[in-house]
Amino acid sequence: MGVCTRVSLIWAIALCFALGSPNSPAWSQIDSELTPKPATAATRASLERFAASLPFADRDDFDLVNRGFIAGVPGNRIVDANGKVLRDLDVSAFFSQAAPSTVNPSLWRNAGLVAKSGLFKLSDRIYQIRGLDYANMTVVLGNTGFIVVDTLMITEAAKAGLDLLRQHVGDRPVVGIIYTHSHPDHYGGVKGIIDEQNATSRRVPILAPGGFMNAIVAENVIALPAWGRRGAYQFGLGLSFNATGFITSGDGPTYPSRNGGPIATAGTLSLIPPTREIASTGDTVTIDGVRIEFQVTPGTEAPSEMNIYFPDLRALCMAENVGGTISCHCGGLRFATLRRGRMISPRRFACMGRERTFCLPATSGLAGGQRRLSTTSQHSGMLSNMSTIKLFAS
Ligand SMILES: [Zn+2]
Repeated sequence: MGVCTRVSLIWAIALCFALGSPNSPAWSQIDSELTPKPATAATRASLERFAASLPFADRDDFDLVNRGFIAGVPGNRIVDANGKVLRDLDVSAFFSQAAPSTVNPSLWRNAGLVAKSGLFKLSDRIYQIRGLDYANMTVVLGNTGFIVVDTLMITEAAKAGLDLLRQHVGDRPVVGIIYTHSHPDHYGGVKGIIDEQNATSRRVPILAPGGFMNAIVAENVIALPAWGRRGAYQFGLGLSFNATGFITSGDGPTYPSRNGGPIATAGTLSLIPPTREIASTGDTVTIDGVRIEFQVTPGTEAPSEMNIYFPDLRALCMAENVGGTISCHCGGLRFATLRRGRMISPRRFACMGRERTFCLPATSGLAGGQRRLSTTSQHSGMLSNMSTIKLFAS
């Protein structure tokens, strides 16, 4: 069963639930609330105090975000089949300025860091596509083809990422796909990297954590009205991309629309159901000569989620259970109540960490998540996350 819809429809529904009819009396009040205003004296003083408390002279994150960079998408644009610009990636000049008085300086810095987009090399056999969408696409080189871990949210961004990879790494087939979890920014672009019929005829394995399809239905069908309404407020979907509107949720990059209106959210969301859902921690699969071990982590950052370890590459992908962003996080681990359709349990994170035989072998290798910065050694930005895991394990 294939599912294909428009992301913009979801946002439109979200806005509809949040704002009601354009003729509604509520609109005049909301219009005035949306009118940009300068920061008040109290806001400026508060942000200045906050800025003084942070080590902005520490530039390690800027080194990390550039490490392994190979190339950006040609033209710095993600376009649809008709040439319409869906993502304008050229925002680095905007964030190179000092933080304006209307924006939290830490969020401003993070927004500039996550805006670095393109193809990155993490190790001889691991590459990453970053900044083309909310999440990352990680690619492992098998003996003959690409094993893709997460496929971004929209097909247009996923296709642009795979084209960039093929241009610089080689024209290989996709031989396996792994969805780390049931959130759409990690599976929605799948039809941009593989045709469903082609995947079926070539018997391409598509792996996902146990309960994946049930979680998608629960969150994106049953819970959509409530989630859509909340999402409109959470992400400020009616705001324009500027220093008095919206710059980022702190979770991933955001892109200005072409006309200066509400932030760009258009694109094509798709789904090819998994050929296998991973049932248990310790399950091991070999794809194209690459051994892969799984740790299922239900009820953590998503109802259906798993961490992935590549023992021969000494590389650990922690899905979105850890990340280098500043949204919905606590000490690098993600838990926030009422996030999406299901409650997220700190207890589950603790249990995940106690499975020490899975987590600890990777700490001397490559560790990363599917949200922004992934790094190449324990002497990096992910160290705090891995230390947290070790703390739970001890
Ligand atoms: Zn997620």
